[in-house]
Amino acid sequence: MEFADRITRVEPSATLAVSNLAKELEADGKDVVDLSVGEPDFDTPANIVEASETSLERGDTGYAPSNGVPELREAIAAKLQDDGLGYEAGNVIVTPGAKQALFETFQTVVDEGDEVVLLDPAWVSYEAMAKMAGGDLTRVDLAGHGFQLEPALDDLADAVSDETTLLVVNSPNNPTGAVYSREAMEGVRDLAVEHDVTVISDEIYQHINYGAEHVSLAGLDGMYERTVTINGFSKAYSMTGWRLGYLAAPDDIVDEAGKIQSHSVSSATHFVQYAGVEALENTDTAVEEMVEAFSERREFLLDLLAEHGVEPATPDGAFYMMLPVDNDDQSWCTNALEDAHVATVPGSAFGAPGFARVSYANSKQRLAEAVERLDAEGYL
Ligand code: PMP
Repeated sequence: MEFADRITRVEPSATLAVSNLAKELEADGKDVVDLSVGEPDFDTPANIVEASETSLERGDTGYAPSNGVPELREAIAAKLQDDGLGYEAGNVIVTPGAKQALFETFQTVVDEGDEVVLLDPAWVSYEAMAKMAGGDLTRVDLAGHGFQLEPALDDLADAVSDETTLLVVNSPNNPTGAVYSREAMEGVRDLAVEHDVTVISDEIYQHINYGAEHVSLAGLDGMYERTVTINGFSKAYSMTGWRLGYLAAPDDIVDEAGKIQSHSVSSATHFVQYAGVEALENTDTAVEEMVEAFSERREFLLDLLAEHGVEPATPDGAFYMMLPVDNDDQSWCTNALEDAHVATVPGSAFGAPGFARVSYANSKQRLAEAVERLDAEGYL
């Protein structure tokens, strides 16, 4: 069969090879320490689960309004306003996961042949979404700058021009855990305003931050009208399987992106949206506890690795760090999985060859086990 160009130009996810191999090993009875996962290892807080149950009992089982139930759009707008951003409820589209919010944004903004600028290392799906929209990618490498954006601003200035349509910024970052400084964000603002570029600010790891200042691009002068703010519930509230996220953007973008939402997924799941209201309004303590646990594990893993002479860039957010490995990171990850039964993701999947992404959303005991095994098999 002849397939559409928009799908044949997308590569299957490079992370699949690792997870398939990990599953095979587990099926053979091997104990795999899985540090490749992109989700918190906590249960969703009980009050959030109860809110969805109450919603179900109330009978919220029919279609929801396409852009989201008013209560959740209002709660999201209130949260964004607390962050100093000028969004109203009408500027919010509630989506089944932040992924759908991103997909709708790419489809709304990017035309065939338009330039999309990514900051490498970049989360795997941006490239696929840009290509599905017909975009041409330009990539700016932050790996040579300790994964920080501020020292790479000159490189970004070389990459961004009047021809650029969209720039994607993700802080705190997946896969590096970097949190970009205010100066870096202001540098982005200057370039975006000068060259009239639309910016996606993916802030899904906003709350998983170990003390660095979180700067929302839409709050900087000149940015509200050109920024699409992406956020969601998967990471902060340990709700990956619920599929709940959102975009916030100026009215005209919401009008256009809302068409994709209504002609594709219709809406996020009705009773899940009330769980989202509860998450935003009553879950601060549980989030603090989870972030504290991630913070302790981060220290624990960094100390353990340092004992073996390995010093990854210290992440300020999210629950990942980038382990420097052989140049051929694909083989390193496959071999480490086969020999030491430790699963990590090759950096080249994110445009960062020579690194492996390690998730520390795992118990200290399992993290210690992973380091011990990698050391014993000669991988550290
Ligand atoms: N953005 C980034 C940077 C992510 O890491 C993820 C999840 N891996 C998402 C967006 C999508 O999250 P979700 O669809 O679960 O809300």
